[in-house]
Amino acid sequence: MNVEKYQEILHEIPENVRLIAVSKLHPASEVEAAYALGQRDFGENWAQEMREKHEILPQDIRWHFIGHLQTNKIKYIIPYVHLIHSIDSFKLLQEVDRQAGKHGRMVGCLLQFHVATEETKSGFLMQECEQMLQSPEFSALKNVEIKGVMGMASFTDDTAQVRREFCTLHSFFTKLKTEYFSENPDFKELSMGMTSDYRIAIEEGSTMIRVGSAIFGARDYSKR
Ligand SMILES: *Cc1c(COP(=O)(O)O)cnc(C)c1O
Repeated sequence: MNVEKYQEILHEIPENVRLIAVSKLHPASEVEAAYALGQRDFGENWAQEMREKHEILPQDIRWHFIGHLQTNKIKYIIPYVHLIHSIDSFKLLQEVDRQAGKHGRMVGCLLQFHVATEETKSGFLMQECEQMLQSPEFSALKNVEIKGVMGMASFTDDTAQVRREFCTLHSFFTKLKTEYFSENPDFKELSMGMTSDYRIAIEEGSTMIRVGSAIFGARDYSKR
């Protein structure tokens, strides 16, 4: 890992912003190196990879699931996951709730919104999300706790566009907070910003940045 860059990021981010170190496709030894420096929040994109790391690494690590979650993989993460950032459908949320119930757990979740231009990025549209929040089926959920929203900006050099998209996500957060979660102090997280855009994200109100390559270097996708 790049210790210098890691410490630089820690120093530059405000106190209310949590750094999630994204360790996907990097070996457990890299997670251990960051752990030794005090890092406790780690992000992973694939359920099996996260499970393998969880089994061999210190138990006080807070594992954040940030990738696209398939319903048949929920079981690999539900016993220990700290926060699922990537809830992008009601069906997925219901299944997380059901399995969390089986384990007698409350599982923290963020609602992922689609704010980028790329169609490949997933997430709710506002109308769809509101339909869910207003439904009796949503009120019946017992084992999930909605703690905020997550989103990814477009992959572009146009920083004005990135800023606009983060601003949109922040406005979604505010709307949900005001109209659906005003009585819930735990609805407070705005997960946005990665290596290329975390500074803009913080300026736009991020409370959680998910940074991988700046800390751990380039990923080898051929391992997938
Ligand atoms: C991989 C990933 C990150 C980290 O990306 P970097 O550019 O390496 O910082 C953050 N968020 C999500 C959802 C990711 O999939």
